[in-house]
Amino acid sequence: MDPLTTGRSYIRLVSFFRNAIETLEPYTPGDQPAPGSRTIKLNTNENPYPPSPHALDALRQVNPDQLRRYPRSRGDEFREAVAEVLALDQTWVLPGNGSDELLTVLIRSVTGPGRPLVYPTPTYVLYSTLAEIQGAPAIEVPFDDNFALPVELLQAARGTLTIVANPNSPSGTTTRIERLSILAAGLKGLLVIDEAYVAFADDDALSLVQHHPNVVILRTLSKSHSLAGLRLGFVVAQPEVIEGLVKVKDSYNVGAVAAQVGAAAIRDVDHTRRTIAKIRESRRRLTVALETMGCRVWPSQANFLLIRPPDGDAKQVYRKLGSRGILVRYFGKQPLSDKLRITIGTDEEQAVLLESLAEILSGGPAAIG
Ligand code: PMP
Repeated sequence: MDPLTTGRSYIRLVSFFRNAIETLEPYTPGDQPAPGSRTIKLNTNENPYPPSPHALDALRQVNPDQLRRYPRSRGDEFREAVAEVLALDQTWVLPGNGSDELLTVLIRSVTGPGRPLVYPTPTYVLYSTLAEIQGAPAIEVPFDDNFALPVELLQAARGTLTIVANPNSPSGTTTRIERLSILAAGLKGLLVIDEAYVAFADDDALSLVQHHPNVVILRTLSKSHSLAGLRLGFVVAQPEVIEGLVKVKDSYNVGAVAAQVGAAAIRDVDHTRRTIAKIRESRRRLTVALETMGCRVWPSQANFLLIRPPDGDAKQVYRKLGSRGILVRYFGKQPLSDKLRITIGTDEEQAVLLESLAEILSGGPAAIG
């Protein structure tokens, strides 16, 4: 008998995995083309500008001992820098290997069978994936068409953990801090405010952690600091919450290189401010240009726009842009199937995008694919 065939049929009959994993629809990250490939990448909300030169200096200064030894267990060098820049005590800060890892730690720590995770939809798809892995019920509360936060319905869902991305992805829309404060006050469980894109917004909700023991602020250096490849994020919460999360995280979840580079990046406040100002200005101009072409554009406070092409055929536009080497994000499912999410790029990238879109939307000659 062919041993390979035997092996395969064995796997089909008896799964190695828990049921929740066997039936899980995996989270699909946006395409990451190989370095050097000629694409205009507007699909995963990376920052189009380079990281701080101080961060690159810090990278060059990594010494062999830092690689030989285990890192300090709470990414201490980075934690100190975050506390300094945000004027907080260090006991309120916990770094992680990207904010995705911290979402895993939060969901593992708090939710489980009979302990629901609640969030408004559509939002960051990873929340539902992590709940499923954890075996926790996920209660999804739909946004309306304008992405107004359904505060009362979120409270009524009684989550042990409620997550609100603010600005939300993929809409880029925001909820005012007063509404988030009302939401926090009416929840018994933890409220995570995922501020992955907050650096591009007018306001943040950091001050809520002082007044609400159940509020957790989640941030990342992936977008605001052009460090998606480094993998670094952090949580801000009251020390009792931080100590609970420390019990669950891996001992050495933040590498020594990430802590050193991240510390230099977050201290370079001027560099970040300049980069963000450019992106906000490009966002303003792209919004106007797309609206002029007849697209609906949701008001974004993030480094991307959610748009609906005039005829709603987002899939076709997505394909045609792709055939010209312009990657944007198409989610496919309702209520997003007629919409695209486009990351704010450099001026040059946006000029190419707009030129292509103009041709595609007018059914013009160069529209291949
Ligand atoms: N939260 C939201 C809303 C996001 O869009 C992302 C990026 N995909 C993350 C968290 C995770 O970011 P990272 O793991 O790079 O810190």
